[in-house]
Amino acid sequence: MPNLNNNDQEIWQTALGQIETKVPKASYETWFKFPKTRGKQISEDSFLIESESAFISEYLEQRMYSIISDVLFKLLDKELELKFKVLGSHIDSELKIQNSFQSNKNFNLNLNPNYTFENFVLGASNELAHAASIAVSENIGKTYNPLLIYSDVGLGKTHLLHAIGNRLSQDGSKFYYLTCEEFTNEYIKAIRTNKTELFRNKYRNADALLLDDIQFLMGKEQTQEGFFHTFNSLHLAGKQIVITSDRPISSLKLLEDRITSRLSGGLVVDIQLPDYETRIDILKKKALIKGIKIKQEILESLSNKLYHNIREMEGSLNKVLALSELTGKELDIELVEELLGSSDTNSYFADPEQIILKVAKYFQIEIADLKGKSREQSLVIARQIAMFILREDSQMNLTTIGLLFGGRDHTTVLHGIRKIQTDAATNQNLRRDLLAIRSSVINN
Ligand code: ADP
Ligand code: MG
Repeated sequence: MPNLNNNDQEIWQTALGQIETKVPKASYETWFKFPKTRGKQISEDSFLIESESAFISEYLEQRMYSIISDVLFKLLDKELELKFKVLGSHIDSELKIQNSFQSNKNFNLNLNPNYTFENFVLGASNELAHAASIAVSENIGKTYNPLLIYSDVGLGKTHLLHAIGNRLSQDGSKFYYLTCEEFTNEYIKAIRTNKTELFRNKYRNADALLLDDIQFLMGKEQTQEGFFHTFNSLHLAGKQIVITSDRPISSLKLLEDRITSRLSGGLVVDIQLPDYETRIDILKKKALIKGIKIKQEILESLSNKLYHNIREMEGSLNKVLALSELTGKELDIELVEELLGSSDTNSYFADPEQIILKVAKYFQIEIADLKGKSREQSLVIARQIAMFILREDSQMNLTTIGLLFGGRDHTTVLHGIRKIQTDAATNQNLRRDLLAIRSSVINN
């Protein structure tokens, strides 16, 4: 008899849990209850149910087909053809394994177990998004609803969304995590098979819906219509909705303004590029998760390279970790530099002139005014922002930055940078400005 893998076991156990609530107790115990049946998906579109006797097989096929098929449709997002077969007499040997799987109440076998709040490194760049995600998972549907997390790619949106899922899972809440693409495909399939009611019920039965990458809906108007209805009915029913986007909502160009206004009706939080310290902490955490210790100087060198996002930085770290495993000894910095290219050619030093240029352009002011002496409030802020970005991204020292701004002394520069640092912690608009400017410098 073929071995069942864990996933099959879990799916069928979960299906049984659902079936139990749909048929009379006696019927469940007679026809379904383990060890009377077991099931597994045997191909893209078929699912095999093995049972203790031909009698049971026949009964299930003739009388229970639609119940089983509906439950599986809900679980696997797929219309599957059911096949029935009589099981051999080897059940006992697998009994132990089978029993170790409790019926699984939530439906999220696709969460990355490493994407937790514990593994999420905090910094000024992501504090708000993190706090909002925690708040939401501790108070489903009651604090910010919907919550929308926005950032450029590779900065931690999916990580936070999974972290919420992993937390809800621990707490025993029912929720779904899926990408907007999966959600949409499922919705379309439901329409085609006349199962929209089933589709809606499936989600209405959960406490929370975590949807990744809403930008997928851009330009797909019909899909947006369906999305909007589902979204609305869940929202009205007080279900928590968390959505991520790699564009600001204003540029998502969603159907009319209905979706946009619904989305902005909740809380929108952003994630920015992490600063140097946070980058080091993230690298440390990632190495720790993999159980490999890396020298501080190597971490520093790694986080000084030019990256557009954390995913890229992790790519470099993974190369280094692979190298470490290969050589089997503690890595030295030269070897790492060789592997990744020297820091002269590849370091995270943005061009100062570019930064000045982009800041001026962003605020639509003259470079001379930006560098000049005017105390006009809007110019002062733009100037401080420029100083902050220069310090962060071009790693210039305070004195040099001062020189660039008409010979201001380093305490003035420091004051400006501190001001931005402090304000950014609470001021979302400022954070958005910083994000936009810094990515325009990097993506130049
Ligand atoms: P996004 O969904 O925004 O494109 P991801 O969530 O996939 O980005 O993040 C990319 C990688 O960066 C993931 O491996 C994630 O774990 C890691 N990452 C992002 N932010 C953090 C953080 N604050 N702490 C630890 N790892 C992070
Ligand atoms: Mg993502």
